[in-house]
Amino acid sequence: MSEKLAIDGGKPLLTRKDFKNWPVIGADERRLVNEVLDRGIVAGGTAPQVKALEKEWAAYTGSKHCLTTCSGTAALHMALAAVGVGPGDEVITSAFTFLASASCAIHQNAIPIFVDIDPRTCCMDPAKLEAAITPRTKAIIPVHIQGCPADMDSILAIAKKHKLFVIEDACQAHGALYKGRKVGTLGDIGTFSLNNFKNLCGGEGGLFITDKEEYLDKGVLIRCFGDEVDEVSKRRVYNASILGYMYRNQELPAALTRAQLLHLDEYNRVRIDNANYLTAALAKIPGVIPPFCPPEGTHVYFMYNVCFDPKKAGVNAEPRKFRIAVEKALYAEGMLIGQWQTMPVPAQDLFQSKLGYGGTGFPWSINEAKGVRYNYDPRQFPVSLELCNTYTIVHGIHAPNGRSQMDGMIAAFTKVFSNLDAAMKHVDDPIYPGADGALYGAG
Ligand SMILES: *Cc1c(COP(=O)(O)O)cnc(C)c1O
Repeated sequence: MSEKLAIDGGKPLLTRKDFKNWPVIGADERRLVNEVLDRGIVAGGTAPQVKALEKEWAAYTGSKHCLTTCSGTAALHMALAAVGVGPGDEVITSAFTFLASASCAIHQNAIPIFVDIDPRTCCMDPAKLEAAITPRTKAIIPVHIQGCPADMDSILAIAKKHKLFVIEDACQAHGALYKGRKVGTLGDIGTFSLNNFKNLCGGEGGLFITDKEEYLDKGVLIRCFGDEVDEVSKRRVYNASILGYMYRNQELPAALTRAQLLHLDEYNRVRIDNANYLTAALAKIPGVIPPFCPPEGTHVYFMYNVCFDPKKAGVNAEPRKFRIAVEKALYAEGMLIGQWQTMPVPAQDLFQSKLGYGGTGFPWSINEAKGVRYNYDPRQFPVSLELCNTYTIVHGIHAPNGRSQMDGMIAAFTKVFSNLDAAMKHVDDPIYPGADGALYGAG
């Protein structure tokens, strides 16, 4: 037994003031945002900041074409619409992800199907992918979760065999590499989010990349109501040729994103350095399992995921209880720590009730009327369920946080793991671990 835990009235090792917020706002942000204000052009699918961002993101990723959108969810929906996914088609994604990786399929009247994850990367497990494919499957959405590249070679091989489209959800993995290539460029279309949390941030927004001109052209239409543009005058003709949406971005978020992009590699480097530093120390603490990076990839640590194993820590407790007790004790020490998703996406009420459009059974009813049954029993995803019992997220590894914050976190882990019996006593305390919105630039 060493010092008294903060949860027992001891002195916390860190305070909120020790952590700097994301995103980092500097001279480039002010310069480019001022360019917008000085020019007076604030919107438009072909406006200067939007156009420049598209060119720069295509160049950065090594993709031929890029469109910027109002959100990552819009980019995902646009991608499914661009490849021709439609009513009753099935779209396969990962069980451990953010809802939008699956709800984008519903937005296209298609039906999301989930595949469990690899316990090390937390990305879709390709070994379980083929069993989820049916004659109705049209596309696969692998997710580069938390910044970790998915096993794309295996997924692309299965997609090719079954003639399926691959839409990469790279919303959490700007700049991550798979075998030397930027994620988002490996499938038919790659999608990114620019929301305030993400490694590349514009406040809100999204990016859609592809090498195929056909998907670019479709994307342009879908992004703006399906409205045709006159080839000579370049003006909208207010004649929609296909069904579209209003998914445009605007000049201020595009300018902010361009400024952030100038620093993306540098800020990703800070995340990677902080992550590696934490991992080296945490790996030595029995019962702490730091995140895994596959040798063929570069992880950009949108989130730093830690799992706990009570047995290895020498504590006789349920894994879920142990994780909660450790989270609360670390939070009391001043760490910004807490879970992100608390359950696999298919366990959410939307999938349990299958009440979609207008509170009806649509779109599932399209195929259920033909005798197909959709069952989202969470027990089909044991690895995701286990992860949701045992993982937490260590916040604050983003730039400009560095060694002093990481050293504080390591000290907090060391202190709590030297006092686990004391920590376990507080498992049911009304303490709510997590990060406040300001840490990620949200009001
Ligand atoms: C953030 C995110 C999205 C959606 O992005 P928005 O810009 O918030 O719409 C989609 N998928 C994943 C995995 C995400 O993390």
